[in-house]
Amino acid sequence: MSNALPLYAPQFAPQTITINPICQEIRKENFADKVTFYAPGLKQYSTGEYKDHSVTEFVSISVTGENCALDCEHCKSKSLHGMLDLMNFNGSMYDMCDRLAEKGTKGVLISGGSDIHGQVPLLKHIPDLIRARKDLGLAIRVHPGLPDEETCAGLAEVDVDGVMLDIIGDQETITEIYHLDKTPQDYEDVLERLHRYKLPAIPHIILGHYYGKMLGEWAALEMIKKYPPKTMVLVILMPLQGTGMVVEKLPSLDEIGSFFELSRKSLPQTPIILGCARPMGPMKLEIDKMALDAGLNGLAYPADGMVEYAREQGVDPNFINACCGVNW
Ligand code: SF4
Repeated sequence: MSNALPLYAPQFAPQTITINPICQEIRKENFADKVTFYAPGLKQYSTGEYKDHSVTEFVSISVTGENCALDCEHCKSKSLHGMLDLMNFNGSMYDMCDRLAEKGTKGVLISGGSDIHGQVPLLKHIPDLIRARKDLGLAIRVHPGLPDEETCAGLAEVDVDGVMLDIIGDQETITEIYHLDKTPQDYEDVLERLHRYKLPAIPHIILGHYYGKMLGEWAALEMIKKYPPKTMVLVILMPLQGTGMVVEKLPSLDEIGSFFELSRKSLPQTPIILGCARPMGPMKLEIDKMALDAGLNGLAYPADGMVEYAREQGVDPNFINACCGVNW
């Protein structure tokens, strides 16, 4: 599997940002002195500090191949390109999981394109997923989009390791970027539903989601605070060539660092992880350092040098070849 996503490194002005040291104190009070670096099989990954990445240990599967009804501006279905297509296994989720497990896969992310209501069609795969969880012992993560009651009930039966979804707190972003006839309240309703079904929610907040501008991120954080999740993931708009998001300007390092701080202070006991999407190039290095300074608990695909940087801060680094928060 290769990373087929064309990226570009946006211009950025180097700045020296000082993160409030209280963030480190909050981490120390609530968590062990360790940081976890995640590297799922979405792309090949190697740095001077980590060369043992396995793309088969945790695999992403799309239940719709490369098809999606929404055509979101930041994605244009490109995020589905690096995933395995369930159709190649005649649509049998169990057969696909069984074959992967034989080859050493320990966990899967079941993802796919959405329908026009923002739901990924997972329902018909629930019986196979229950069997895959029980018989094969796979860790199962899902991207359901905005799951309804029936889907939540099914996912609870699967005993999923995590339900990952973007939480959007701004109407313009929902309408113009996702092309969805939904409101921020619909996103909050999903958080409530996941909570009610005792599903381990892993909400993602995308910084700069509205064409590089921060609009609804604070409202998203407020919603998440009402239903403290298993893990919260912060990502930053990653401009992909060929989407509507090749923007000139991304959130500044100052804005990003401030949001890291606010998140750490708002959810002192919730693991917070810097997820896989963020700008490349020199900006990534600065963002990753700020994440560690802000006492976040993990980073996906860390920039070279972060293992050493973590050690200098007195935290013990470890690597997991899977999505944020997977633990095996
Ligand atoms: S941000 Fe983390 S949890 Fe989300 S897809 Fe990337 S690695 Fe997986």
